[in-house]
Amino acid sequence: MDFSISEKMQTIIGMINEFVEKELIPLEPEFLTTPSRKMIPRIEEKRQMVRQIELWAPNHPKEYGGMGLNLVEHALVSEALGRTPLGHLVFGCQAPDAGNIEILYKYGTDAQKEKYLRPLIAGKIRSCFSMTEIDLPGSNPVMLDTTAVKDGDDYLINGHKWYTSSADGAEFAIVMAVTNPDAPPYLRASMIIVPTNTPGFNLVRNIPVMGHAGEDYFSHAEILYQSCRVSQRNLLGPEGQGFVLAQDRLGPGRIHHCMRWIGICNRAFDLMCSRAVNRIISPEKTLAMKQIIQSWIAECAADIRSARLMVLHTAWTIENLGVKEARQDISLIKFVVANVMQKVIDRALQVHGGLGMTDDRIIAFYYRHERAARIYDGADEVHKVSVARRILREYEGKQVK
Ligand SMILES: Cc1cc2nc3c(=O)[nH]c(=O)nc-3n(C[C@H](O)[C@H](O)[C@H](O)COP(=O)(O)OP(=O)(O)OC[C@H]3O[C@@H](n4cnc5c(N)ncnc54)[C@H](O)[C@@H]3O)c2cc1C
Repeated sequence: MDFSISEKMQTIIGMINEFVEKELIPLEPEFLTTPSRKMIPRIEEKRQMVRQIELWAPNHPKEYGGMGLNLVEHALVSEALGRTPLGHLVFGCQAPDAGNIEILYKYGTDAQKEKYLRPLIAGKIRSCFSMTEIDLPGSNPVMLDTTAVKDGDDYLINGHKWYTSSADGAEFAIVMAVTNPDAPPYLRASMIIVPTNTPGFNLVRNIPVMGHAGEDYFSHAEILYQSCRVSQRNLLGPEGQGFVLAQDRLGPGRIHHCMRWIGICNRAFDLMCSRAVNRIISPEKTLAMKQIIQSWIAECAADIRSARLMVLHTAWTIENLGVKEARQDISLIKFVVANVMQKVIDRALQVHGGLGMTDDRIIAFYYRHERAARIYDGADEVHKVSVARRILREYEGKQVK
């Protein structure tokens, strides 16, 4: 098994690490205390620097101005960028745009690609993904109430969504709506591109999450689609294939998220160790000398390392054998890494004591924002049940001695 990292990737990761340390981590105090919309010029300034050093849109296709890195390569990039909440946004590979770009690239018509994909990859516009509904379980997405009914050459969309992340300030939403109510459950829904300035696209509010409603990119919206009329040319992919597209969107997306979370773990771990070594808790004794802290540090190191290998192996499997072969691994990494991250952030916060609760360090931001990792893109329990079912199926009719 070859664990080596190519020279090209070593150079890229080295450049990213330097940029994160010099340009982004120093921006965090301002980011943590400034409304997000006011930060846009500062973020654009940094994005321009990233374009100049030719590291813009690392995972996106070269023909559209990206770097065209493969999934394993981008996994390493995502880890490096995860060290700061600004990383992915400044390098043009942030969710939910990254997932939308993937499906627009694979399923978009030429006209859709020119109108939406090209400016999205260039970072000139943002987008959002509107599937989860306020009154129905996101864990069982075939239960959808939102409808898109044909009316002449158009669709009329009606529905009530929430948790449409980053809708505030986005140019368009990719909306999941029922177009074929009489089809079998997995063939009922379609994805439709809805510009956010369409009459009937009503952003009700940015939902307060863990004490912050946020704004612009850093927000999650409740949206009412009220007789929202868009051309049938805005259908993305074939009608009734919304769940097929959603699956395509989620596979590589989970690698991006999981490696971003590993990056968060690395940052929290570094902060924890540095604090432990430097915090004097009694004359001539530091926190690092306490066995309980040493035990946490060793456990976190082992957890992070094993989680990281699991994700890289899953990325390698997707890249070489396809998403289908990696299905079980994709579910495993989703809940394993989310839980490792939560534990590492929590330990890092605890080691910092009162300081950990403040916005003088990045840990509290991660604590607030990343709890959701165990819920979105499939809650822990949903993945566990699905993995266990698949494993147990292999034992049916078998006698193990
Ligand atoms: C920060 C954040 C960002 C999000 N961004 C987006 C977005 O951009 N676009 C979008 O469309 N949605 C988004 N979501 C929504 C997300 O996809 C849903 O919250 C998720 O699918 C869970 O659905 P639910 O909240 O309706 O919970 P439910 O489906 O009501 O589930 C609640 C809980 O029940 C348990 N559970 C559910 N099913 C099972 C089962 N089969 N077996 C055992 N236990 C089970 C789990 O513990 C689960 O957490 C986001 C959510 C969050 C928190």
